[in-house]
Amino acid sequence: MPKPGGATAALATALRLPVFDKGWVWLAGAGPGDPGLITALGAYAIQNADVILYDALIDTALLTLARPGAELVFAGKRAGVKSCKQSDISRTLVSLAKKGKRVLRLKGGDPFVFGRGGEEALALTRGGVPFRIVPGVTAGIGGLAYAGIPVTHRDTNHAVTFVTGHGADGRLPKLDWAALAKGSPTLVLFMARKHAGEIAAKLIAAGRGGDEPAAIVSDATSGKQAVAVTTLGRLGEIAVRSSAPAIIVIGENVRLRDGLDWIGALAGKVLEPYPLGRARLSEAG
Ligand code: SAH
Repeated sequence: MPKPGGATAALATALRLPVFDKGWVWLAGAGPGDPGLITALGAYAIQNADVILYDALIDTALLTLARPGAELVFAGKRAGVKSCKQSDISRTLVSLAKKGKRVLRLKGGDPFVFGRGGEEALALTRGGVPFRIVPGVTAGIGGLAYAGIPVTHRDTNHAVTFVTGHGADGRLPKLDWAALAKGSPTLVLFMARKHAGEIAAKLIAAGRGGDEPAAIVSDATSGKQAVAVTTLGRLGEIAVRSSAPAIIVIGENVRLRDGLDWIGALAGKVLEPYPLGRARLSEAG
């Protein structure tokens, strides 16, 4: 085990972090963008890895934590760009671990949320490679928090559903959209820019209002974060205006942003104390 710096060693002891052994793969989430959102275990993994295979949406500031001499391998994909085949990544993870390396697979957000982390981990199981999963802050929750939109709030939604707009074949996944429309007051969509219009139309056809609030949070938690608040009726038109990675949220909880846009407040925006109007549960204590 390499000797990490004093602060790292102190953190590892205080938090009882596990040893990163040779021949292991750690599959870790780096969080959605802001490098500060990595977990302590994730940062420790970066500091102790021999090889790091990292995704496209990782802030490279995180890689500056790596040990001198650690091998840094870009293994990313972005919509439409087939930079790395999934099977190649899985095979590389197995072969590096078998060579006795400490291998870190660093993925955006949480590795088990629409990130193929499950597929990569299964390849490790099949290859007989021991591994650890290090969860991360998913863009679907942390990204909304940076937009001032709580993923749940007892005045607006008692449930939330995460949905991908991109099936394995690139098309809109076959889901029961009418059931989602009726059953889930808030929907959080990943990879859904292209099909946002189609999704909105299906939800409206199933009874959701065209004037229901929706937001598109692009490059969430990074310095380039942009938030577009719109309505379900206009969602499709707005969503295709950019190709930056985005989380789309549909539901009454979007209204809370008027009172909770803390990043806007840093820039002088005045927050609305009652974004849902008065006499709500949240004021009753
Ligand atoms: N495992 C990741 C999701 C990977 S799928 C997670 O838990 O966040 C990739 C999709 O995630 C993108 O197309 C986009 O919909 C969303 N995404 C990832 N990072 C994002 C970010 N910083 N801002 C907005 N959306 C993001």
